[in-house]
Amino acid sequence: DPARATLIDGKAFAAALVDQVAAAAARLEADRGVKPGLAVVIVGEDPASQIYVRNKGETTQRAGMRSDTHRLPETTPQGDLLALIGELNADAGIHGILVQLPLPAHIDSAAVLAAIDPDKDVDGFHVVNAGRLAVGLPGLVPCTPLGCLMLLKHELGDLTGLNAVVVGRSNIVGKPMAQLLLGQSCTVTIAHSRTRDLPALCRTADILVAAVGRPEMVRGDWIKPGATVIDVGINRVPSRDPERAAAGKTRVVGDVAFDEAALVAGRITPVPGGVGPMTIACLLANTYTAACRAAGVEPEP
Ligand code: NDP
Repeated sequence: DPARATLIDGKAFAAALVDQVAAAAARLEADRGVKPGLAVVIVGEDPASQIYVRNKGETTQRAGMRSDTHRLPETTPQGDLLALIGELNADAGIHGILVQLPLPAHIDSAAVLAAIDPDKDVDGFHVVNAGRLAVGLPGLVPCTPLGCLMLLKHELGDLTGLNAVVVGRSNIVGKPMAQLLLGQSCTVTIAHSRTRDLPALCRTADILVAAVGRPEMVRGDWIKPGATVIDVGINRVPSRDPERAAAGKTRVVGDVAFDEAALVAGRITPVPGGVGPMTIACLLANTYTAACRAAGVEPEP
């Protein structure tokens, strides 16, 4: 159907990226004897976090990298967690450190993130990396927006001069996404919950990134015909089938009303299978990059 948007296949792109990073990591090990290593730290039993952490560990191992998972009890004192991070900072075999969020309420997340060596901060959440991104210095970039940018460059090539609207201003998605697009010479607008006439603003976007956390908020008539739509949202809603819904079954939808949007957009990421798989692939890419820098080697593109 020519009236329907082209699907941006993040799952396939992510699989290819993981293969590419695995090959580059194998060459780094063969040439320099450096095996990229990622340490993931999880505190407590949050079921969603457990799944994320298991996926990260498995994908890292499949890419031929070292993967250590540190599982700490819910009651872990902040001092113990900080001590572990200190050890990981000092461990030359570990190039990336990721602390799975959210942390239990008795722990100050900001203090924990600040304790990670910025050069091992593969989530890119340390203020030093946020600052590097803002001033255009090499650093480590948050994985989700990095994955979005890779998809956009793959789909559109040069982004210079395009109008980009980013809906959402979180430190982990919206703000770094806007910085990356600015770095590509887009004209960037950041929208949020206090924005006036969001639908009209979105209609100015050649590139529309939705990172809101509200199921199907962005409607078809908010989209400029032919625009490229990147849907970061991951929202669980009741199953479409009332009987299944009554049984507690859920499905995952994005922040964009996909069926409507696909009739107007030029290209669009599905949920699931769009941005989600890119996040973990970019985590491996960041770990590889950190290992190269630690070894004084230029990372392969
Ligand atoms: P946050 O809750 O931290 O931020 C949401 C942003 O959306 C805020 O800036 C908020 O504005 C804005 N917002 C909320 N309601 C509205 C509204 N009605 N109109 C306009 N803007 C609004 O979320 P995250 O950035 O962490 O995540 C966003 C989404 O992306 C979530 O669905 C999350 O699950 C998903 N996600 C997906 C990832 C992936 O791997 N694909 C990774 C990370 C997140 P204000 O600042 O004014 O409150």
